Amino acid sequence: MKRLVFFLAIVWLGWGCATKPQAELGYILQVSSGDWYRPNYTTQQIIARLDTVIGQVKVDKVIIGWNLDDEMYQAIGEFLHARNISMLFWLPVFAETEAILDNTPAVDIWGQVPSNSQWNLPEGFRFNCPTNPQNIANLLTFYETHLAYLPFDGVFLDRIRTQSFVCGVQGVLNCGCEHCAARYAGLGVDLAQVRERYEQIGDAFFSVNDHGQFTDSLAARYFEAKGKVVSESVGQVADWFHSRGMEVGMDLFAPLLAPYVGQDYTILAVHADFIKPMLYRQTHAPAGIGYDYELLRKSVPNATGYPDLVTDVAFLNSQLQAMAHLACKKYPGIEINYHEQFAPTTPEYIQESMQAIQNAGFSGAVLSWNIMEAPDAHVRALLH
Ligand SMILES: [Zn+2]
Repeated sequence: MKRLVFFLAIVWLGWGCATKPQAELGYILQVSSGDWYRPNYTTQQIIARLDTVIGQVKVDKVIIGWNLDDEMYQAIGEFLHARNISMLFWLPVFAETEAILDNTPAVDIWGQVPSNSQWNLPEGFRFNCPTNPQNIANLLTFYETHLAYLPFDGVFLDRIRTQSFVCGVQGVLNCGCEHCAARYAGLGVDLAQVRERYEQIGDAFFSVNDHGQFTDSLAARYFEAKGKVVSESVGQVADWFHSRGMEVGMDLFAPLLAPYVGQDYTILAVHADFIKPMLYRQTHAPAGIGYDYELLRKSVPNATGYPDLVTDVAFLNSQLQAMAHLACKKYPGIEINYHEQFAPTTPEYIQESMQAIQNAGFSGAVLSWNIMEAPDAHVRALLH
């Protein structure tokens, strides 16, 4: 009898799990509305597209930016607020602000500005120093003057990192200016010693063990400090927006790659209402996980601990697992845009990714990276 009860209990529990409805995913849309002074679309085009997508899936928020057009944001804000959807300004923080700000560029630990990424862009873009107080003050003053009076409910902070391996080792061993050096020194890391060690051991500076930890003890301390230096600066920017009652979202590299660009998830999550880790498994361009991983391997070919990477669902689950404990909301970025060469996504790929996010119990996903250009078949493929 006991056995039967036990058996029935197992069957009941199993049935309960199998039929328990999973929470509906909420989606965040990204609208790449243009550069600071070059709009990509008219207000009517954007509203028409948003209207179509909102009619098909549950939309929680819209991230839009970063061209400057008061009337456009007024009209779109009104449209979204009438539907209970919040509007966040897409704000690049440490890069792509040259057109509006005279900020100080980031330098590598040798004091040089790394050559800009020319990857398929009409103009490369540089990164600015993440700790220079004047750089941060300039950005916030700009927001205050040109954007604060518009109906934004929050900001989505983009470019909150250093250069990646797109600019090789010089991009990653960065920023090494006097402001940053002082921050590292405060954390017990002497950048002159880091430079010396790298020059001594070369690629081995980047070697990792089976757990992804740096095998060189100074490299381990350097990257831990880098996460603090960059992420605490981002935290300062986020807190400024919070103090104004605004919501803050953050654009992050995947957990596997975040340490190289100074993104410490644990620190950032404390300052974010939601994070958008870019879990792009089908993007063969910067921020695509496979693409950036191969750049890493190419930049430091003699470093050990970097096996071939298979970006299958098991890998996606490992990345979701790595952030599951964080208290902020998690909306992983999944590319639903399509490009034959750079983003050969399919409806199946999108469904597979959304299913993994739903299974992980996350809030939803950010439909990346521009809903204006996403194929309709990919919107229809989303989970309801
Ligand atoms: Zn600096």
